[in-house]
Amino acid sequence: MLLKANLKQLKLPTMLAEHEKLAREAADADEPYESYLLRLTEVELATRSANALTNRIRVAGFPVLKDFDTFDFTAVPALPKQNILELARGEWIDQHFNCCLIGGSGTGKTHVATSLGLALCRLGKRVRFVTAAGLVTQLEEAHQAHRLDRVLAQLDRVDLLIVDELGYLSFSRTGAELLFQVFADRYERRSLLITSNLPFGEWGQVFQGERMTAALLDRLTHRCHIFEMNGESYRFRESMKAKKESSKKGK
Ligand code: ADP
Ligand code: MG
Repeated sequence: MLLKANLKQLKLPTMLAEHEKLAREAADADEPYESYLLRLTEVELATRSANALTNRIRVAGFPVLKDFDTFDFTAVPALPKQNILELARGEWIDQHFNCCLIGGSGTGKTHVATSLGLALCRLGKRVRFVTAAGLVTQLEEAHQAHRLDRVLAQLDRVDLLIVDELGYLSFSRTGAELLFQVFADRYERRSLLITSNLPFGEWGQVFQGERMTAALLDRLTHRCHIFEMNGESYRFRESMKAKKESSKKGK
């Protein structure tokens, strides 16, 4: 009873749950005390790191949990598989590099961004996934409520900020300025992963004003892995395939 209370007070829930079973096993196998203690601490640590990972993934806010195992690289020949899997090893995050995935709708940008984000969560990195529109709204609201500093500080703690769907909507002047501030703040300090349907030459539409766009692109692309994922929409292709198959069956 005392042992249970102590383990509880020491916040060792897995040791609390497992110590009796492991003690029986250790006694049966005539294990020395140290190896019993080692086993106990191992189960505690394993549960902790699994919980921490679950938590990192939850906090990251991925729209859906899509991994590389369901991504068909042969469908996007323009995307070099080896280079993407290299990014999944996370060195670029430590070097504060950025990554841009540029391509039309349905070419797998969100899928790849999510899979990369998940891989980095597994490496212990703090990741946040937001849409450009969602981020701008959040920044504008924070700005109005005089808590912009707090939101910026939160973003600053994140190792990789994934900004999805830049380019579908253009922003107000303030919105664009706030987004610019986030991007500029991260320059050479923290990584960004941006997905966009627009080639860089058309980003002026989003950021209103050539000067701000040029300044932003300059920082973003300075140390950046850029991938163009052009090609047919995967969604579109799959639905065409399904249609063809069902019409074949119909005959
Ligand atoms: P985008 O963000 O470029 O518009 P998505 O990543 O949302 O495209 O992809 C659209 C859908 O097609 C998603 O369900 C995604 O999982 C799937 N998809 C896209 N490309 C591939 C691919 N190469 N292999 C497997 N699934 C893919
Ligand atoms: Mg997308």
